[in-house]
Amino acid sequence: MDANRTLAQIREEGRTVLTEIESKELIAEAGLPVVATMPAATKEEAVRLSGAIGFPVVMKILSPDIVHKSDSGGVRLNLENSGKVEEAFDEIMGNLRRHHPDARIHGVSVQKMALPGQEVIIGMSKDLQFGPLFMFGLGGVMVELFKDVSFRIAPVSPRDAREMVREIRAFPLLTGFRGAPGVDIPFLEGLLVQVSNLVESNPQIKELDLNPVMAYKDSALIVDARVILEGCS
Ligand code: ADP
Ligand code: MG
Repeated sequence: MDANRTLAQIREEGRTVLTEIESKELIAEAGLPVVATMPAATKEEAVRLSGAIGFPVVMKILSPDIVHKSDSGGVRLNLENSGKVEEAFDEIMGNLRRHHPDARIHGVSVQKMALPGQEVIIGMSKDLQFGPLFMFGLGGVMVELFKDVSFRIAPVSPRDAREMVREIRAFPLLTGFRGAPGVDIPFLEGLLVQVSNLVESNPQIKELDLNPVMAYKDSALIVDARVILEGCS
């Protein structure tokens, strides 16, 4: 899919929030590593795609009106067969009708269940004074509870990326701590630079969140993405 066409279409619809599918298409096209993800409009399509992707899969609500998918009961992990996929579809749609009866629904996204890894976050939001501001941190409580994150303004050079990763207090968790394996730190640094390049070449992006990125011993994989565009002017 052509990213520029997608963005133009979204603007035509008067939307600024990209769905997970649209966000992932945009970043995959820029060469970033994204977990295999497909949109399904119906339960039958979700089952068919799950088989094609290979079990276990993850299913998530697909709606331009839902940004925090798990808060709305919209994420089901580790679905191991077609029966579980059917159940998850009904459950997710039921949760949505209950919590957000007016939300526009595109269906669900079906994706490969990624192997467990160290969850990290890469984010960008535009600061009125400084322009694009990039953030790096570990996923989960480390960001929410301890605000253990590092920031750089655009563009993020390889040297900036190296510093960003090392500035967080939890950095020892990335190098391997108490017998736990470390992760591929140069790979994460490369991702930060790639995200900076993506934002530089698409100035219409206002916010970008890769949360989480699964970091592994020898690579990393983006499993959730959210992109917000500048308002139409
Ligand atoms: P939210 O919109 O709530 O941020 P996410 O897509 O981030 O929803 O999913 C919530 C959590 O589920 C993630 O933080 C991650 O731990 C897990 N998760 C999401 N997608 C996958 C996947 N494809 N493989 C494995 N775990 C996943
Ligand atoms: Mg997320």
